[in-house]
Amino acid sequence: PGTRRWLFADQLGPHFLDAPDQPVLLVESRAVFRRRRFHRQKAHLLLSALRHRAAQLGDQAVFLQTDTYAEALDQVAEPLSVCAPTTWPARDFVLRRPGLTVLEARGFVTRQADFRRWAGGRTRERLLMDDFYRTARRVHDVLMDGAEPAGGTWNLDHDNREPPPADGRVPAPPPWLPVEDEIDAQVRADLDRWVADGDVAFVGDDGPRLFPVTAAETEERLADFLTHRLRAFGPHEDAMLAGDPWLAHSMLSASLNLGLVDPADVVHRAELAWRESVAAGDPLPLNSVEGFVRQVMGWRDWIWHLYWQLGREYRHGNALEAHEDVPGWMGELAAEEVDANCLSSVLSDVRERGWVHHIPRLMVLGNYALQRGIEPLAITDWFHRVFLDGYDWVMVANVVGMSQHADGGVLATKPYAAGGAYIDRMSDYCGGCRYDPKKRLGEDACPFTAGYWSFLDRNRERLADNRRMRQPLAGLGRLKDLEAVVGQERVRGTEAP
Ligand code: SF4
Repeated sequence: PGTRRWLFADQLGPHFLDAPDQPVLLVESRAVFRRRRFHRQKAHLLLSALRHRAAQLGDQAVFLQTDTYAEALDQVAEPLSVCAPTTWPARDFVLRRPGLTVLEARGFVTRQADFRRWAGGRTRERLLMDDFYRTARRVHDVLMDGAEPAGGTWNLDHDNREPPPADGRVPAPPPWLPVEDEIDAQVRADLDRWVADGDVAFVGDDGPRLFPVTAAETEERLADFLTHRLRAFGPHEDAMLAGDPWLAHSMLSASLNLGLVDPADVVHRAELAWRESVAAGDPLPLNSVEGFVRQVMGWRDWIWHLYWQLGREYRHGNALEAHEDVPGWMGELAAEEVDANCLSSVLSDVRERGWVHHIPRLMVLGNYALQRGIEPLAITDWFHRVFLDGYDWVMVANVVGMSQHADGGVLATKPYAAGGAYIDRMSDYCGGCRYDPKKRLGEDACPFTAGYWSFLDRNRERLADNRRMRQPLAGLGRLKDLEAVVGQERVRGTEAP
């Protein structure tokens, strides 16, 4: 059955083994939780997933609960193999460790060597997601009709930006949710004890586990999504509703990032569902299917490969010279201290579940940090800790590059800064808010609208050469009350809005 395979806690699916009966080593390291103040439900999810895998493998696995990985490895005399782990420090660790054979990474659709070949000769600015995604579609033959993309178009994103439905309900049933078992009860008791001992500290609420921890649970969620929710996913994927955090999102990111399911299988299943629906005369909308496939094999893979391609120093970029601390109310997820309805609602969702979809992350939380000049690395660390699907490889390019424009435009050609008008159009938050999305000055000035102009003013020179910022900067030049707005926002700073 081969060399014993050490599986990290984000390598838990069957595709990380060479054979179903291969001997396994699993290590639960307490030190991981001491290093960072994670969301409580993230710690629960990780421990529960690891312990479920150990229980499932039984005698096939050696399961060690130690303080550090090194302590665990010291107890194993036989040679080990490991699939390349997902962070720079973990890769350094395994490469230094004698008696450990490091194999290529798994858990992504495109192999790292293939990405490097694709990227070879391209400058950092030309590593475009859309180009990468088209190549991956062709190479892996996903949603293709011969040499052409199914439906004749590669990317149907323009169909997927609709505001929330007028009746406030996305036409999809609620998602499949797991049921906790005795392993979860044990995890909860252990976490309570660790906190009581003062050994670790968490942020966020404890709560019923909402995300899968096994391959079987992941299959339940995937099958439910493909059958009942994928149809409605596309059009409203960017919409936000105060009363419905899930909309028609798949909520598979945590499973994918725990390695519970092979993303190649996920995209093939989505394609199969689409082809079967076409054959049955009731086609799933292609924009929903393509949008989902793009998230899984386009965006997720691209972010992963950029983590390595852009190098160790990429995370330290701070092109907009943002140096504010993460404010305490944000760090504590203290939604009750915030009046701004969008921000309060999203923070409360994060506290309650450790998850919101990509638009609240990008256009509410990230947008706020960008406008207020919060230090990119600090806000990246915050995202990593409070989102239960967040890992270093996911968050560095997504937050430093995409959300905070701290790389000066490698990932995104312009900063994702937007005023209250965007949030008003894409959500139902503004109706019940004490601020007015149209106002930039005065007691009821929307912090996002005023923050947007203040952000542009502060970065006027840094963004002057960006072609896509010409129009907004010209708009800035026409504001008669700019000085007052900037003064007002300087006073507001990062106080809870
Ligand atoms: Fe958010 Fe501004 Fe709308 Fe209030 S008015 S919900 S602060 S965007």
